[in-house]
Amino acid sequence: MPTDSTSEIDPEVLEAIRTTVERARHSPLYSKRLRDVKLREFDEFRGIPLTTRQDLVDAGLHGTRAVALDRICHYGETSGTTGEPNSIWLTSEDLARNARTIAQRHPDVFAPGRILMNRFPFMAAPAHLIQLIAQQGGGVAIPAGNINWDVPFPRALELAQHTGAQVMAGLPLEPIVLAQIALAQGLDPAKDLAIDTFFLGGAPLPPVLQKRIERVWGARVIELYGSTETMLLGTSCPFRSLHLETGLVHCEILRLDSDDPADIGDVGRLIVTTLGIEGSPLVRLDTGDRVRRMPACACGDDRPSIVVLGRENDVIEIGNRLFHPYEIIEAAAAAADALDSSVFFTVVMPDRLLFRIETEHVGGDPQAAIREHLGDIPIEVERTSQNSLLDVEQLSRSPSVYKPVLVSDWRRPGRHTMSVSQGMIEWPRPSFPELGRLLIRSLRGAARGRRLRRELRVAEKTTSR
Ligand SMILES: [Zn+2]
Repeated sequence: MPTDSTSEIDPEVLEAIRTTVERARHSPLYSKRLRDVKLREFDEFRGIPLTTRQDLVDAGLHGTRAVALDRICHYGETSGTTGEPNSIWLTSEDLARNARTIAQRHPDVFAPGRILMNRFPFMAAPAHLIQLIAQQGGGVAIPAGNINWDVPFPRALELAQHTGAQVMAGLPLEPIVLAQIALAQGLDPAKDLAIDTFFLGGAPLPPVLQKRIERVWGARVIELYGSTETMLLGTSCPFRSLHLETGLVHCEILRLDSDDPADIGDVGRLIVTTLGIEGSPLVRLDTGDRVRRMPACACGDDRPSIVVLGRENDVIEIGNRLFHPYEIIEAAAAAADALDSSVFFTVVMPDRLLFRIETEHVGGDPQAAIREHLGDIPIEVERTSQNSLLDVEQLSRSPSVYKPVLVSDWRRPGRHTMSVSQGMIEWPRPSFPELGRLLIRSLRGAARGRRLRRELRVAEKTTSR
């Protein structure tokens, strides 16, 4: 159990927490805070004040670092709520431990000879974990992080196709974007690609979205949960339960209204004490994530499982009720699925939620799908045309990126460039009909945006009266 109240705690876990506290005392952040902590019993642990993200920011660049800089191999940071960064330092063993845990947990996914398409952005820790998993014998990694010009989406699809990649790791949007590009090229993602597993994390991934991705791709979805500060927190089992990685972290799920443990089925605040990090160990970090504590999983794994609902700062109030990002995305994905679509976008307006769904489908009852998840709240469903929310044509026009050169020999055949930037990047020239279509779509989008902004101004005036 993640939140055993008192003496129930496993002595081994208490010993692991003691080790973390011991380590953490070497960092500026915790040297004073933990000076007098003896941890003879678990109750004393629960008396340690929570560490907030703001504490991490205030601690400064090296505030969380508990070992000498010459033992560190990896730096990561995230921006706090106010935009200032908080900093995390990791040793090579910290990273290796995370990678080993993931691979051991999923031996059928990560194995010698399996091709792993690594689409996590380079600065995100999972990008490095996937590379490490491969180096530890878990497969062949293709470092093809997205959000960088040398591997735009169409190139990623091409790479996956011609290498016969079986695993794709990345953000939850990855399979959706790639499927749209594949379909536009006349490919069937399920038949024409070898991908059998998506390893996805970094954004809400409700079951309805997982099932949709699985149907479109004929592949399994595994959810990955973690953060820059805590590193790996858990992965999902075949029953879609996200099990916490209890060997690496001690998790408490506290009620929203008090510091008591949340009951099973309830939403609580996730508090994490790292057990597997030497570089920047954290004691009772309030992650700012809201999670639902789930009952025992039918898969037989007795480690606790949770549903990650999103950041507490991202909670949305509509019709006097509060919704987490997960719940909105779940409803939107269900509505899109009812219209046989994977492409949707939600706009929160003062008086309603506007669900925009790209679809050609006639019929279907998206409203019912939304009501099933969110109850009776004011909504609007807008069916939009192909490429209006996710412009595949525009994505496919991504630039060619070359190695920077400082000399171009115009006497030879091939590319003749006359500047550094021209040498590095070549933007494709749109054809005339392409240009026309792009123009029409952007005009349509702009008109819709103007109408919504006008509506917002009227609503603001009414409420300020
Ligand atoms: Zn399970």
